[in-house]
This record gives sequence, C-alpha cells and structure tokens, in this order.
Amino acid sequence: MGEQLTTEQIKERLLADFRKKFGIEQGEKLREAVSFAERVHCNQRRDGGEPFVTHPLTVAQYLLNMGMDAPTIIAGVLHDTVEDGDGITNEDIEKRFGADVAKLVDGVTKLTKSGNQTYITKKQEQTENLRKLFLSIASDVRVVIIKLADRLHNMRTLAYCTPEKQARKAKETLEVYAPLADRFGMGVIRSELEDLSFRYIMPEEYAKLAAEVSEQQQERMEALASAMEQMKALLKEANIEGTVSGRPKHLYSTYRKMQRNGYKLNELYDLIAIRIIVGSVNDCYAALGVVHATWKPLPGRFKDYIAMPKPNMYRSLHTTVMNENGIPFEIQIRTREMHETAEYGIAAHWMYKDDKKVMTELDRKTSLIKQIIEAEETTEDSREFVENVLKDFLGEYVFVLTPRGEIIDLPVGSTPLDFAYRIHTNVGHHCQHARVNGNMVRLDYKLKTNDVVEILTSNSQVGPSRDWLSIVKTQSAKNKIRQWFKRENREENILRGREMLEDAAKRHGQNLQVLMKQEYVNEVMSRMTINTMDDLYASIGFGGASAGQVLHRLMELHRKEERLAALNQKLEEAGKEPQKPVRRTNTNGVYISGDPGMAVFFASCCNPLPGDPIIGYITRGRGVSIHRADCKNAASLLNDPERIIEVEWATEEKNAFAATIRLRVVDKAGSLMEISKVLMSLNVNMTSLVSRSTSEGEAMMDMTFTVSGTEQLKVILTNLRKLPEVLDAYRV
Ligand code: MN
Repeated sequence: MGEQLTTEQIKERLLADFRKKFGIEQGEKLREAVSFAERVHCNQRRDGGEPFVTHPLTVAQYLLNMGMDAPTIIAGVLHDTVEDGDGITNEDIEKRFGADVAKLVDGVTKLTKSGNQTYITKKQEQTENLRKLFLSIASDVRVVIIKLADRLHNMRTLAYCTPEKQARKAKETLEVYAPLADRFGMGVIRSELEDLSFRYIMPEEYAKLAAEVSEQQQERMEALASAMEQMKALLKEANIEGTVSGRPKHLYSTYRKMQRNGYKLNELYDLIAIRIIVGSVNDCYAALGVVHATWKPLPGRFKDYIAMPKPNMYRSLHTTVMNENGIPFEIQIRTREMHETAEYGIAAHWMYKDDKKVMTELDRKTSLIKQIIEAEETTEDSREFVENVLKDFLGEYVFVLTPRGEIIDLPVGSTPLDFAYRIHTNVGHHCQHARVNGNMVRLDYKLKTNDVVEILTSNSQVGPSRDWLSIVKTQSAKNKIRQWFKRENREENILRGREMLEDAAKRHGQNLQVLMKQEYVNEVMSRMTINTMDDLYASIGFGGASAGQVLHRLMELHRKEERLAALNQKLEEAGKEPQKPVRRTNTNGVYISGDPGMAVFFASCCNPLPGDPIIGYITRGRGVSIHRADCKNAASLLNDPERIIEVEWATEEKNAFAATIRLRVVDKAGSLMEISKVLMSLNVNMTSLVSRSTSEGEAMMDMTFTVSGTEQLKVILTNLRKLPEVLDAYRV
C-alpha cells in the first residue's frame, strides 16, 4: 500500500477492480458515487495536501480488497459526504444510492454540531459519537468494517497532522478501534492500528524496540529463511500441498508482552512466526506431524485453536519449536479459509456466506452490544452507555468454558453470576450455586481463563437478590437484575422508593414537603431523563437511582433558591440590581452564571466535592473560587454579596477531587495496616498521611486522598468507622 498513486490512478483502479467483481451495471453505480464524492469534496484537501477525495476512494479500495459487498464499497466512497459536504443530507444519499447504502453512510457519520446539540467538551462530543457508532454497529455490522477501513487510512496518513491531533487520534485508536478490530476478528487491521498508534503515543519506546528487534532480527531472519526452505521440502515429501511464509511479529504485541511479564526481548519465543497454509483441516494436522517430527516442540506451547476456536472466530494450530541452533520459532498452521478469517474476521463472512459458525458468532457479537443497549433503559446518560461498551465489550477479558467446552468471553473480574447471565437471563435469575473446575465456589468468585464453569439453578430460587448488584461485574448482568426488580415489582418499587426517599430525608433532618416543589422535582427528573413521579420512585426502589442522590439534588436546588433570595435582598438593600438564577455556563466542572471566560478554581480551605452545596466568590484577578457553602471562610465572604456568584455542579462525572479526613485511632502497631486494607479494598489512593500520638493510647491521623464525590467519601467513612481500631472518623 506504500505506492504513491495520483488521484486519477486511485480512482481508475477502484472502478476497474469493482467492475471486474460486480459487473458493468453495478460498476455504473460506483462511478456515480465517485463523481458525487468528487463534487462534494472538490474544494477540500487532506492534511497531507492531496485532494480529499483520495481518502474515501482509498477506503473503498480497502473494503473491496477485504471482499466486502457492493453497497459497503459504495458507502465507503460516500462515507464522508454527509459529514463534510455542505448541506448534503442522508436523504440525498438515499434518493441517489438507495436505502441500504444510505443506512451505512449514516452509520459512520458523526453527529452534527449544527443541530440542537452543543458540546461542552471534546470528550463529550467523542462520547456522543461513540454512542451513535455502537448503536449503528449493532444494527448493521458492516458499519464497523467501514469505520475500521476509514480509521486505518487516517492512521496511515497521520504523519501530516498536528502533534495534538496525532496524539488524540492514536489514543482513541488504541482504546476503541484496535479493540473493535480484535473483537470482530480483524487481526491484520488490529495489528496495524496498534503499531501505528504505538508509534505516535510512545515514539521513544517504539523507536527503541524497533531498533532492538531489527538488530536481533538479522540472525533470526537467516534461520527463518532456511527453516522455510526446509519446511517446503518436507511438505512436498509428505505430499501436502501448501504455502509457507515467514514474518516478524508486530511490535505493539511484543511490547505489551514484555511490559506485562517483564520479559526481555531475547526471552520471547514468538518474535518470528512461520505460517503454513494448507488445503484442508486434515492437512493441518498432517503438517503439524511433519513439524514436530523435524524440530523439537517446546513444552506447553502447542495450542489447537481448530478444535477450540477463540471467541473472535480465530482458528489455527500453534506450536513453538527450536531449530538445531537453538533459535525458537512459532509455527501457525491453518487452511486458506481460516487464514482469511484470521486476517479479516467478520469481513471474511462476506466471502464465505454459508459459514454457519461465522454467522452465529456474528449474531452473538452484536447481541452483546444489543444487550448493553437494552440496558440503556436503566442507565442515565450516554457516557455510562459508552463506558459500558468499552468495559464489557472492548475491555480485557478472560476466557472460560461451559461444561460442554464452549468458550465464553467475559470482562476481567467477572463472576459466576456474570457467566450465568451471559448464558441466559433465566439461568442468571435462578442461579443458586456455581462450580468451577468441579469445586463449589462463592458467587463472587473471580473467574480465570480456562476455568470450566457450571451453574446450578433451582426453581425455588424465585429471582436475583439485591446484593447481587454489587457482585456482578458486567453491566448487562447488572441491568438484567435491575430490570427483574423493576418489572416484577413495579408497584412495590414505587412504594419502596417513596419510603426510601422519606427515610433519607428524615436521616438528613429535611422536610420532604418543602423539597418536593414541582420546579425542583421537574429539574431532577429532567436531569435523570425520567418522566413521571412514579417512575422516579420506582427507579429509586429498584436501585437504578439512589435516594441519597435525589435528595441531595432537591436540597441543593432548594438551598440555591434560598441563597439567591437572601443575596438579592442584600443587593436590594444596597440599591443594586438583583441577580438572575444560574444560567448554565460550564467551566471546570461547575456551572457559573455570567461570563463563561472566567477561570474557576476550588478553594483549598474546604476542598469542595461534587454533591457538596457550593458557592462561588469572585476574587481579585484570579477568577472564581469555589467554596463549600458551609466553609468558615465562605461565611465571611458573604459579607461581600456583590462578589458572590451562583454556581452549581455541572456533572457527577467521576473526576478526581482531593478530600481530607481525620481519624482518631487506637495507637498501636497494625492500626494503620488495617486502615490501609480498607482503603485498598475500596480502591482509594491516599495522597498524604500525617499521624501523631495524642493522649495515652490514641493517635490522630489526617489523610488526604482523591475521591469522585461525597457519595464515595461517605462510603469510605462508613467503612473506616466499622474498624475496632478507629474511634472516630470525620471530614475536615
Ligand atoms: Mn473518513
């Protein structure tokens, strides 16, 4: 792909290749699409200076080379016309090129900013776009193939972009697109995307490893060449027809292996791989016999992915052998079809349409995304949805087996309950016990790769229990449990939710009557995308929303109104204009009224956390300082009402905030250890600790750590207070 073609050459090659495969009639359709794209992009250039249209044409060529169908290739030509074309709509595409093509183009088109949508941050924009992409993939899997071809070309030409864009694109590629390629079995694309991202994200490590590899490669390559010759002759002798090729492993996977296991380069056995492609499955095993009869296999390195394919459909025989000079090689043996699947994954499905296995796998794959989409009912926003897909679908996973030997892939940290829910919703609901490798385990056991998992169900188990919500790891299991509670007991949930909110109010000494003012309630519901009061109660009742959170939002709205009234009274007394309620201008995690350009910082005297009632104070020259409303300093600031400004938290986003707590503890060896254990189990990072002995047998500890908000802080304090060593714990 390295050759430099002119735009005209790229175009002619695409048209000719396409015509050869799909015939003259289809060829005309493509030509039409090409001229349409040429017109739309006529004044646009790529970052490298070449006409923009070379990009969609190249993407279409990739799709053609992968063996995709005609509508996908045509959509590849058109994929940027709606996004970048002035006034081109999806309806235009549908009118000209039909619904199928239009649907694909729409699937890869980002949301437009011109609509009602305005994005506060780049991150938010990215999230919204990913959400749309995942939804599109679930409804038509060809979308992911176009998107990956698009990303591949953009990454190959990334050299021409600004360093900032390079870093952003490379990071996104490594986090989203390479895992997507992997999940859909598109091995070559994944490798290349990873290597390209690696180069831009860690240029030094990349260069260092590349140099190191090539230095060692010399000797290995020579050995490889002679091994390949030998292999060819041996296959011929054994009457097995096949091709033999050799290649170095790609850099990023080598880098990761070294990082993860602390290996040195010369400790890796699979820096070089020989690939043998033969005609049939029988020949695969025959070729393996020849290999093992010639070179000594290394123990524990043989893997039969033909009998047990990987969850992403990958099939091959793998073995590692040592040659006469002690140089190790990995050898991969597969049929042509397995090879296509290994390289192009789901794309290979369009080459082998009758392959039932691929189809089933495809269904399963997209059904995983669909499960997460269904779950969206109960999640509050698109950020959560996108995170769920990234974690449940694109994160690191373990492979476990059903008793019948089927492989199930689950995110790292999954439990037998996640497994049960993955098998079937009802297996989950009625799960009573689990056996792993023949032994009974607790339902919160963390599954490991190669565990054989067996779920024992019981009809006397009427349904999930609420504490399962804190056991399961996957969002889809969590949501199935929530939905059960939601559906089974709506009436009960409404009652329960109301009670829970009343209890929460009582605990905080609040009068719910005052707080449930219609304006406040509406504001809370609209933020949670909930429509009716019953839905709000029900949501609290089944655990979709927390009573504490709802209460705090209501309290904050109420306090805000009171503070504004008090402030305006002072202003009025001073003969000044009253302030209006907060207009939503977001800066640094809080909304402030007025000038959006104002810098915002958090006062270090009280370290406010999301969820805390807060006020803003306009400092001289430094912007707005945010204090807790109950901060001592803030009280004196209130004497200066003109400089007080209404603010509110923009998100409950899990940003890190510093919080300091003080503990009164029993002064003995081991106290700190117990406290650390609790913090560790809660995943809390302590950033500072000051400890001093006070009266006999007691010590005072001030510790600071980062938390996401008051909710988390509360959990930490509650857990610390449970320790016998801790006499008292509170926030300072
Ligand atoms: Mn593009």
